[in-house]
Amino acid sequence: MTQSQGFALRTSSSSKARLPVGMSGLLCYTVAMPELPDLEVIKEFLRDHVVGQEIAEVEVVRPIVVRNLAGGDFSTRLTGQRIEQVSRRGKFLVLTLDSGDYLVISPMLAGRLHYAPRRERRLRKTFVILHLADGMDLRYTDAKTMGKVYLTGDLAQVPGFAELGPEALDPNLTLDLFKERLRKYRGEIKGVLTRQSFVAGIGNAYADEICWQAGVYPFRKRPRLSDEEIARLYEAMREVLNEAVAILRERVGADIHVEIRDFLKVHGRGGQPCPRCGTTISQIKARGRLTNFCRQCQPGSLIRGRPAWG
Ligand SMILES: [Zn+2]
Repeated sequence: MTQSQGFALRTSSSSKARLPVGMSGLLCYTVAMPELPDLEVIKEFLRDHVVGQEIAEVEVVRPIVVRNLAGGDFSTRLTGQRIEQVSRRGKFLVLTLDSGDYLVISPMLAGRLHYAPRRERRLRKTFVILHLADGMDLRYTDAKTMGKVYLTGDLAQVPGFAELGPEALDPNLTLDLFKERLRKYRGEIKGVLTRQSFVAGIGNAYADEICWQAGVYPFRKRPRLSDEEIARLYEAMREVLNEAVAILRERVGADIHVEIRDFLKVHGRGGQPCPRCGTTISQIKARGRLTNFCRQCQPGSLIRGRPAWG
């Protein structure tokens, strides 16, 4: 079953991973990076299912993703510890253990957690397995081997953690604060939205969704955005992420290793009609990643200073 692989970009019209229009051969784009909504829902699931559990045994199938910053042997140190809390910060999942250690999952492009009974067959590229005392496993799989599993007594030791900006859905992140934080960034707005030091939790897919929702061309430079456009981006950020969390909460269930992206409006939908105006959704590769947008709803130009599309 394709679903068991968990890392294919899924669309409503096809159960197979589908290559975006004009991107044949770039298989990397069939991988969807977990972002705030995905990880928020996984966090909620794990809170209900693994908090209070003891780690009975640890199996490191391939140590390549493991970063033990706590000292000693990774498996020995983890064994016998109880999971006290599960939290999320940006695109990190944090398991707080009863010794005060933290097990931090940074899925990067393709890391997934698989929650399954011990007897269930492992997914391809399963690297680390926590055998829990209740007979369930929490497994880390990674099709791209780019993610990391950190063990540390100090979260600030985890690369990128201390630099994280406020959570995108933090109620304290007001429009005024959003504007103020935005001021120091001068690059293209999509790139700014995905900077974890600006706001934590947004990646490539949801940045496209936010720009589309706000009607802002993703490659507009931040200084060229009006106050009104910035306000629209702020509102869109809240709306898009809250809506995605609500949808995923309904649909993910125990299949936390499966990424659901078929409800997105523009990302991964190049060549299909824009749900707002019917214009064919554009798709370009820029800055090493795929961007989808609607030329009609999000007018702009790739060439600075030159108007495009009327
Ligand atoms: Zn449109």
